[in-house]
Amino acid sequence: MAEPTQSATVLSVADLTPHVRELILLPKAQKILFQPGQWISLQLPVGIKPPLNHAYSPALPPTPTGHLSLVFDRVPDGAGSNYLYGLTPGDELLMSGPYGDFSLPPTLDRELLFVSRYTGLVPIRCILKQLTAAGPMPPVTLIAVGPAQDELLYHEELQALAKQQSSFRYLPMVVKGTDEEVVEATLTVLRPFLAGKPKLMPWLSGVKGFVRPLRTYFMEAGYERKEIKTETYD
Ligand SMILES: Cc1cc2nc3c(=O)[nH]c(=O)nc-3n(C[C@H](O)[C@H](O)[C@H](O)COP(=O)(O)OP(=O)(O)OC[C@H]3O[C@@H](n4cnc5c(N)ncnc54)[C@H](O)[C@@H]3O)c2cc1C
Repeated sequence: MAEPTQSATVLSVADLTPHVRELILLPKAQKILFQPGQWISLQLPVGIKPPLNHAYSPALPPTPTGHLSLVFDRVPDGAGSNYLYGLTPGDELLMSGPYGDFSLPPTLDRELLFVSRYTGLVPIRCILKQLTAAGPMPPVTLIAVGPAQDELLYHEELQALAKQQSSFRYLPMVVKGTDEEVVEATLTVLRPFLAGKPKLMPWLSGVKGFVRPLRTYFMEAGYERKEIKTETYD
């Protein structure tokens, strides 16, 4: 069941890339116990009719202290993300949650395939942390698309993970363009990757213009809709 709305304090602010920022928050009333991949709702005092309710997915699994890591890109003219960019340590935010079902099932009977665009990687990174904490990783592939080399989120961390864990394959891609161009470039990696393989468990995350055509691709390849996990940001 979702927790009631509570206030959280901004403890620290860090830039992860030139256009992606992390806030570390501490909920004041009680810890938010979430499954990695779930999201938190922030009530932001901006927009035409405040509050503006926006979802953000923690980038780290629950910590013993209750700290939350929220990671977001600065959307040009976006009221919510620009408000978050203005926050400094000591500021407060209203939040509730957790919500959502973009989280691991109790048993994994298929190879996992994560496909993310830009900050769509955030909930997936949280799930990867969960998997690595649980012991040797099951077979996992991550295709992470970013708009520039220096905007590839968690790039060094993921490269290091791929070196440590032979069952984890990391395929970063830099593609800048329209939704259609980004989808087409992603498919040039996905098509040969899927060819001849048994069914995987696909997880797609990012804006709708990215997630929906890829879901359609999987469905045309024989997947049922319920076999494809999706998280859409807009
Ligand atoms: C379940 C869920 C989880 C989410 N988790 C995250 C997260 O962990 N990190 C994060 O950065 N955002 C996340 N979002 C998106 C977030 O809630 C906001 O929509 C985003 O920060 C943009 O808000 P805005 O008010 O600045 O822009 P808006 O005025 O709402 O404009 C958004 C428009 O900008 C474009 N856009 C570009 N980048 C994004 C983006 N990252 N998200 C949404 N739209 C984008 C889209 O075309 C969209 O129509 C999540 C959304 C959902 C529904």
